[in-house]
Amino acid sequence: MGGNFGQGATAIKVLKSVVMRKRDNGIAVVSFDVEGTLVTTDFSSAIWFELIPGRYSRRHGLNFEEATMKVRQAYDSIGDQRLEWYDVQYWFTRFDLGDADIAMEELQPKVQYYPDTKDVLKQLQNKYKLSVASGSPRPFLKHLLRDIEHNFSSIYSSTSDYQQVKTADFWSAMCRDLGVDPGQVIHVGDHMQFDFVEPASIGIKAFHLDRNRESGMAASLQSLNELVPLLADTKK
Ligand SMILES: [Mg+2]
Repeated sequence: MGGNFGQGATAIKVLKSVVMRKRDNGIAVVSFDVEGTLVTTDFSSAIWFELIPGRYSRRHGLNFEEATMKVRQAYDSIGDQRLEWYDVQYWFTRFDLGDADIAMEELQPKVQYYPDTKDVLKQLQNKYKLSVASGSPRPFLKHLLRDIEHNFSSIYSSTSDYQQVKTADFWSAMCRDLGVDPGQVIHVGDHMQFDFVEPASIGIKAFHLDRNRESGMAASLQSLNELVPLLADTKK
C-alpha cells in the first residue's frame, strides 16, 4: 500500500508541476546580487581604495601611494575567498583606523544605482517575490540598498548571515529559508563563480550579468533589462 500511495503522490506532484508550467513559468523568486548588479562599485571602491589608504597614510605617516601599496598587499594576502576580505571593520581594526561605521556613513553619496535598476525592480515587483543575495556584509548593504530596499521581501548576506561566500551551501540554505525549490528561483549577478556557477550547481536558474562584455560568454546578460523579456519568454 505504501508503494501505491507513494506512486500516487508522485503522479499528483508531476501533474501539479505540468499544470503549473502551463499556467506560468514556475518562477516564484527573482534574486539579485547587489554590487556590480544593482549598485555600482563606486561606494566600495571609495572605501577600499580612497578611505582606507587615506586614513592609513595619515595614521602611519606615509604618502597616499605608499599607503595604497601597503593596503593592497594586505588585501591580496587575504583574497576574496576569505571572509575577512569583506569585513571593513576587520581592516579598520587591523590598520588601527577607528570606527568603520562612522567613516562609511560619510561615503553614502557615493552609492549609485545602475540606470536600469529601479525600472526593472518596478516591472518585476508585482509579479514575483524579489530577493537580495549578496556577498557584501550587512554594514555595506545598509548603505548600498538604502533607497531600494522597499522592493525586496527578503535580503540575504552570505557573509553576515551564513559566514561564507556564495557557495552552493549558501544557495541551498537560502532556498530552504525562502521555502522554495531551487528551480523556482532566478538569480542574476555579475560574479561568474558566486552568482552563476554556484547557484546553477544546485538548480537555480542563474544568469551571469556582464555589463562591460568582459567575460567573452555569449550567454551573459549585458543589462538587467534583458531579464524582463527572458522571464516573459519562459511563460510560453
Ligand atoms: Mg557583484
